[in-house]
Amino acid sequence: MKIYITLDYEIYFGANHGTVEKCILYPTSELIRIAESTGTRFVFFVDIGFILKLDEFRKKFPQLEKDYEAIVEQVKYLGDTGHDVQLHIHPHWEDSYYNGTCWIIDVKRYKLADFDDEQVSSIVRRYKKGLEDITGKATFAFRAGGWCLQPFSKLEKIFRELGIRVDSSVFRNGYFASEQYSYDFRNAPDKDIYRFERDVILEKKDGYFTEVPISPIRNSPLFFWKLFLLGRKDPYMHKPLGDGQAMPAPGYRKKLLTKFTNNPVSVDGYNSQLLQKALNRLQREKRGHMVVIGHPKALSRHSLNKLEEFIKENKEQHQFSTFAKTFPA
Ligand SMILES: [Zn+2]
Repeated sequence: MKIYITLDYEIYFGANHGTVEKCILYPTSELIRIAESTGTRFVFFVDIGFILKLDEFRKKFPQLEKDYEAIVEQVKYLGDTGHDVQLHIHPHWEDSYYNGTCWIIDVKRYKLADFDDEQVSSIVRRYKKGLEDITGKATFAFRAGGWCLQPFSKLEKIFRELGIRVDSSVFRNGYFASEQYSYDFRNAPDKDIYRFERDVILEKKDGYFTEVPISPIRNSPLFFWKLFLLGRKDPYMHKPLGDGQAMPAPGYRKKLLTKFTNNPVSVDGYNSQLLQKALNRLQREKRGHMVVIGHPKALSRHSLNKLEEFIKENKEQHQFSTFAKTFPA
């Protein structure tokens, strides 16, 4: 099996967005350490909209200079050392700004679909170029901010024009709708890889785009009770390394604690506990691709240990890979 450890590289978007050091730089340096010690490489989906905003505002606010330079240096390092650096678009940066003290994050237009066609095309074009200017490498893979990439028909044309040909935003049976979020993967194909064209959850043989979905997992409410309780009992091991708060998702936490829910296989926090179980199931189902999602900001000391253990345990039998290796130009 090919296993992809994919990380959405970003700060928080809630009331407290956290610091670049704790949400991004430090946890990513830990990931780099694990990659080096295990001889593996990961896929980083970089929130380039944030970096472009840093670049814009650092001229007026010199205190941002340090954040900007450190992030650019780290992203470039990731690209130079064989990690995949790919496109993660959070278009709400278009409406957000720095006020001299903190980022004022406006999520009224959270999804690309909240913008008109011309704006979508301009955002995707600028963001892709911005990222490629940092790494000097072509990007071709995409993960939507908050998994919101529907309706894909709004993205199809510009993605095709720019050669963005691989997506990894779908997780089967995932579904959530709120004022900001909207994704519905309940009818996604029961596959670990498929082609598509206008609709990201509709398989089309010979379609231009390839979907490599994030591997799905079904969690019991008990699991999340354990997760939240451990965070209280042993914060040193179980609290996220990032120092911010997530954007509100009304009803989401309650749903996790009261119902069985469909989630992506994740290395974030206590979710990392289930990596081996998820891999065993995918093997029984004879799948060829396992995609694990994570966020540097949401990793904990426990999850970093679990990730390292998971890689060491499985790297002989399986192939930890990147999209650049699996989908060469
Ligand atoms: Zn994101």
